[in-house]
Amino acid sequence: MDLYKDIQYIKGVGPARAKLLNRLGIFTVEDLLYYIPFRYEDRSNIKPISEISQYCGDLHQTVQGEILSTRVVITPRQKKKIFEVAIGDSSGHITAKWFNQAFLKDVLKKGSMVVLNGQVKADHYGYGLYIEGPEFEIISPGDNALIHTGRIVPIYHVTSGLSQKVMRNIIRGVLDTCSIPEIISTDMLDKYRLPVLGEAINAIHFPPEGNSVDDLNSGETRAHKRLSFEEFFLLEIGLAMKKMSTDKERGIAFNANGVLLDKLSSILPYKLTPSQQRVINEIKADMADPHPMNRLLQGDVGCGKTAVALSAMLIAVENGYQAALMAPTEVLAEQHYRNIKRYLDQLGISSCILTSGARSRDKVAVLSDIASGGAGIVIGTHALLEEGVRFNRLGFTVIDEQHKFGVLQRAALKEKGYNPDVLIMTATPIPRTLSLTVYGDLNLSIIDELPPGRMPAVTRWLYGESRRDAYYIMQEELNKGRQAYVVYPLVEESEKVDLKGATEMAERLQKSFQRHNVGLLHGRMSFAEKEKIMERFKKNETHVLVSTTVVEVGVDVPNATVMVIEHAERFGLSQLHQLRGRVGRGGGKSYCLLLTEGNITEEGRCRLNAMERTNNGFRIAEEDLSIRGPGEFFGTRQSGIPELKVANILRDAKILEAARKEAFELVMKDPVMERAENRALRNVTERRWKDKLKLATVS
Ligand code: ADP
Ligand code: MG
Repeated sequence: MDLYKDIQYIKGVGPARAKLLNRLGIFTVEDLLYYIPFRYEDRSNIKPISEISQYCGDLHQTVQGEILSTRVVITPRQKKKIFEVAIGDSSGHITAKWFNQAFLKDVLKKGSMVVLNGQVKADHYGYGLYIEGPEFEIISPGDNALIHTGRIVPIYHVTSGLSQKVMRNIIRGVLDTCSIPEIISTDMLDKYRLPVLGEAINAIHFPPEGNSVDDLNSGETRAHKRLSFEEFFLLEIGLAMKKMSTDKERGIAFNANGVLLDKLSSILPYKLTPSQQRVINEIKADMADPHPMNRLLQGDVGCGKTAVALSAMLIAVENGYQAALMAPTEVLAEQHYRNIKRYLDQLGISSCILTSGARSRDKVAVLSDIASGGAGIVIGTHALLEEGVRFNRLGFTVIDEQHKFGVLQRAALKEKGYNPDVLIMTATPIPRTLSLTVYGDLNLSIIDELPPGRMPAVTRWLYGESRRDAYYIMQEELNKGRQAYVVYPLVEESEKVDLKGATEMAERLQKSFQRHNVGLLHGRMSFAEKEKIMERFKKNETHVLVSTTVVEVGVDVPNATVMVIEHAERFGLSQLHQLRGRVGRGGGKSYCLLLTEGNITEEGRCRLNAMERTNNGFRIAEEDLSIRGPGEFFGTRQSGIPELKVANILRDAKILEAARKEAFELVMKDPVMERAENRALRNVTERRWKDKLKLATVS
């Protein structure tokens, strides 16, 4: 059977079911084979109902039996409808209840055989047990016993109109009639002790005897490992091919030995750290090379990535090219602009800023500056990607990512120039496993030290009575002449409420700290107003700054030693870590105080604990990934790399490392995968990743 055959023509499918399968993203036989069960249920020896107890350790239980009776009960107070079924086997009977699903009475009928899986609970009075809202499957006499029961069965994500049983039957039918060709070499499979593809696909749907349901559910079987390896391997081959082909493209060979960098270091108020210097040298080497640079710069908050980006942009300008820096938000763009412009003015280099919020009159002038080449360095947001933006001679682009831009947007800015060099910076470090998948086609530079004099902020999570400690600490620091930030989170839906909260907070603080000045900064202010308030804080005319927004606290005030974060549970881990990076810049002890009120979710607790435990951004990133999972962490859908079907970046980190190593070695030896033994792999890689990675087509 052809693996790319339209699913509609498979036995037991047809046009109507094909539509339902399409909804699940299944279009071909191959899609179906790789449609992995999200869970498995052990129906190999279902317990007699009499043995079911809520105390047997496993809260989810499977029972099988006949429906003895059904009824709809209405709760006296809330008038909720509960559908109740009594099911029995030769050992006894038990009730199953579904809340607000009275329609089930038309589905589950007296006399039917069913398998139920759900949580067993004791009823109010402790008289009996019931299963709450279980998943169910009706077993009919004609069903093939060895597909739907009497074994470990696969459970798929299905859609209405498509039952587990239909899904299982279709997949069983395909497995029985098609042979699945291998794409990975025997040597490699042997090396990692992985089963062949056909065996793995069969086992993932219908696990062989000897597999435990726990291993299956946690993805720890040989079949899972094999398919995870394959998934990573194909992705990394795609990334390696992309990298090889862009490394070979013609790009600009800059002369990196000009005088501007020396001039810059003479006006910078500090000396670059050895790490910054090393990374600048890596970038210089890339720039001098006649192929386009594609480099990812990682480093902890406050390590000084901006100075590195500025240095690189200056080299481009010195060579007669323009450079652009794209930031993820308007505020960050403004901030970069303000920071960088000081130096550019001194060096006599013209610069401009372009954001979508700019007034149209200004915008016309800015656009013409960009088009004429009058602006050497252009800073902006994604507005830079708009069609009307034409550069005269764009040679270098910096993308300050903050996890916001995907592979495709990176490509879009690149297309504004003639193969410009590209430097991507992440706002906070990202875990290695993620950078291998999302940025796997880039070279990596890491700044692994902070400028001298930085001290890790003492971080404490304070709640209840201990919240008061935050204000004692603040008072003490203020008395020493230091300054403090108080961040009050802004949640978009309730902007007004929060604004009120922040205003009251500022008033209250002003009353408590009468000898000091409290300022308030919020998102609704105009830029001019914000600027004024920030300026006062910088000059130490204001001593406490209450702010509703996070990023606007991005200014550099070394005298600030306290960062108080209200409702800290509402912030993401990397945001908290970024905020913490605002203090501890001036030498001496500093504090990051995380305040919470009321109950905190488990996830929230994990985040706050992580903050207390470590100051290291790379470790924070790992924690963040393990708390949220890869999809949430990166917004994988946006990143241009689709979600992985089988592999899990956390669970399968080792497999990823191995797959990457093998993929890069393979592509190094055979850059366009034209050798006979690699052709099958190349075809599969192209089919899966060509559009996603914008792989050049290999003819
Ligand atoms: P990030 O890497 O988080 O973007 P920035 O580039 O904003 O960090 O730098 C953080 C602060 O550290 C800025 O105020 C910058 O002026 C300062 N800084 C950068 N490099 C050095 C250095 N080598 N020595 C002292 N201060 C530095
Ligand atoms: Mg930065």
